[in-house]
Amino acid sequence: MYWEQFVQSEAQTDIGLRRKNNEDSYCISFCPNEETWRRSGHLFIVADGMGGHAVGELASRLAIETIPHSLQKTSTQDPKKALHEAILAANAAIHTRGTQNADFLHMGTTCTTLMLGPAGGIVGHIGDSRAYRVRRDRIDQLTFDHSLEWELERKHGSLKGIIDLSQHRNVITRSLGPEEVIDVDLEGPFPVFPGDTFLLCSDGLSNQVSDPEMGAILREFSPKAAAKLLIELANVRGGPDNSTAVVVRIGDLPSNVYPTQTDEFIENRPGLGWSWLAAFAGGALLVVWGVALLLLGHSISGSILTALSVWGMLVLTVFSIRQQQALRQDLPDETHTRLWRPHRTAVALSSKELFELLASIDGELQRSARDDGWDVDWGEHDRAVKAAERAAQEKRYAKGLRDLARAIGMVMDELPRQPDPGNVRSGS
Ligand code: CA
Repeated sequence: MYWEQFVQSEAQTDIGLRRKNNEDSYCISFCPNEETWRRSGHLFIVADGMGGHAVGELASRLAIETIPHSLQKTSTQDPKKALHEAILAANAAIHTRGTQNADFLHMGTTCTTLMLGPAGGIVGHIGDSRAYRVRRDRIDQLTFDHSLEWELERKHGSLKGIIDLSQHRNVITRSLGPEEVIDVDLEGPFPVFPGDTFLLCSDGLSNQVSDPEMGAILREFSPKAAAKLLIELANVRGGPDNSTAVVVRIGDLPSNVYPTQTDEFIENRPGLGWSWLAAFAGGALLVVWGVALLLLGHSISGSILTALSVWGMLVLTVFSIRQQQALRQDLPDETHTRLWRPHRTAVALSSKELFELLASIDGELQRSARDDGWDVDWGEHDRAVKAAERAAQEKRYAKGLRDLARAIGMVMDELPRQPDPGNVRSGS
């Protein structure tokens, strides 16, 4: 029994308030059995199509259909290689379709794929959709945006105050489809731990909701409520684009079950551990003791103890050097994912800030819901908000957050049902 049986996921996609089509697609595909899981893993994809006149829809749909299909047929035992090949196959499928029909020329899509298997999490990525991981109080962006803004910053450093790229936010530098040959980013495998929450999203969401906000929402809400709330927030803030969120949470394991072989210390491997330090300290103590005996005139016992302890220290030194070398061999180069660092990271907010943030989100949702006449039990909602405010005044933020989450949940439960185009959910 491993963590693969404790994965919860939820996806939401929405057309937004200003577009005619939803060109985003997503895929959630759970392995039907352990054998498939050992070979590849559960699969989650977000693709944001472009090209206009429903062409973007076709491109993103081709991506989410081709990748799982290609992974099922793969013969390679290396999941990272299999994912790379699957993304290349999706590019070929979209590119071929684009060259067959003049209307489809230059159609393309972003594609961000998370594969959760025995090795951990592997991300295959092209474009400016994103993959995030929330662990405890941090949110890490696992992917590099292939956008003009990020590429220029990588080349020239921070552009803040130098160039205003706000009008060019949707200019992407890499995508699936338009080119025959593409460069795909592959990240991971990342160790996966109980409680980790992953988010894949399109830029329609990440342009409207900040990283700390996403982190706080993903930390405090169930995957289902978080996915709904994130999309709703993007719409409350204008909904200029289609937005999609796929939320994946690794559940808590029963106490007698341990995570897979991935170990947290691998991420920040500390070199020689405490046992080595203790051994060195013990050896040094024996040397001092031996020298003290010599000085006190116990020449025989003093010289034996000194000689033995110095010899012991030498043996320890040789072994520790070998151990260090072995550790370094495990980390062959800078790009090795054990040395991986997130492309962008933020601290999820402290309880007071988080409380204030959720209160303001509730305010935004309320205004929108009251304006549009949603059928919310406002009496019950307002009682929950009052209870939350009382708890916050008493600095009981955990209770305050729960009450606020209840109030927000009540509003979201009455969300008008939206059609859910351009997505598939496969597997069991
Ligand atoms: Ca978009």
